[in-house]
Amino acid sequence: SIQLSIRDLNKRFKTGDGVKGISLDVMKGELVTLLGPSGCGKTTVLRSIGGFLAPDSGDIQIRGSSILHLPPEKRPTAMVFQSYNLWPHMTVYDNLAFGLKLRKKKKDEIRSLVQEALKLVQLESAEHKTPGLLSGGQQQRVALARALLLEPEVLLLDEPFSALDAKLRMEMREELRDIQRRTGMTMIFVTHDQEEALSISDRIVVMRAGEIEQLSTPQEIYDQPQTLFVAGFIGRINLIKGTGTGRSVAVGEARFEQERAHDGAVIAAVRPEDVYLTEQETNSLPGMIRQIMILGHYAEVSVESGEQVLKMFVPREQSARLHHGQQVRIGFSRVVSFPSPGA
Ligand code: ADP
Ligand code: MG
Repeated sequence: SIQLSIRDLNKRFKTGDGVKGISLDVMKGELVTLLGPSGCGKTTVLRSIGGFLAPDSGDIQIRGSSILHLPPEKRPTAMVFQSYNLWPHMTVYDNLAFGLKLRKKKKDEIRSLVQEALKLVQLESAEHKTPGLLSGGQQQRVALARALLLEPEVLLLDEPFSALDAKLRMEMREELRDIQRRTGMTMIFVTHDQEEALSISDRIVVMRAGEIEQLSTPQEIYDQPQTLFVAGFIGRINLIKGTGTGRSVAVGEARFEQERAHDGAVIAAVRPEDVYLTEQETNSLPGMIRQIMILGHYAEVSVESGEQVLKMFVPREQSARLHHGQQVRIGFSRVVSFPSPGA
């Protein structure tokens, strides 16, 4: 069933920036990510849902009822921010109990709810500490537990892991996903980090300059980007000039199959994992190896072909047989092309 429905949301700031015509349905128990570069309007959408910002037009409904007339504290939403917003002088326990006391819950019930929430975020031992004694990751877990305790119908998370280092960010991703599965909570997650979005989302909304560019599953966003912007923003990709004829695309002397039919000048987008070395003389491009970067179990190899430098991923064993300056031929196993912007 539909938990959150955003209908033609518009917000224009005095500067002319804002969001335009945002429509989105989020299903119960779904984790939907708003992804896009800084300034594209992600926070504006989130704050409109949370009630911290009044849109110019459009509607926001939770389970079929508009929430626009409700102040933030009356909305069935809770928000987690990048800066944890914990009360520094209160213990973790009191930070979590505060909202429950306001709701006039009984002392015993508060105790058991808080302990349950601390267990969920793996922080039982921090109960009596003040936030200042905790690491960034632990503080963000407290903020998450506090939001979960409010039992929102939709949990809003605005770049919650951005302040954490790379390793911790990855752990927090897994943990959030795990909590989300166990609680069945509907979540809207905001990030500018495409890897984070790909790894935790049921669906991703790619935003650009205040508008939705594509709304699909992570797999579709990665494999079937609908625009050149999405192709370039998500994952690594080579962009190569070509000429399309139906489902075939010519790059130099070589022809490859393309995922979508396009005629005329195109930009062929090829992911580094879809570039391969070949002995075949036909339907392959000549190139010279410019650089080999060992990245653990694989290497990233740069191949100069004509006026372009293409990146490809090569398994470690194979990369050991390659050297700088070597003449090779390359092929593409998967090409998604776009009409050339200049055409
Ligand atoms: P994001 O979260 O994707 O980085 P925001 O939603 O914060 O983007 O902002 C979208 C655009 O609106 C940006 O250009 C930003 O500068 C502008 N903006 C956001 N809030 C305000 C505001 N209160 N007043 C004026 N401009 C704003
Ligand atoms: Mg933001």
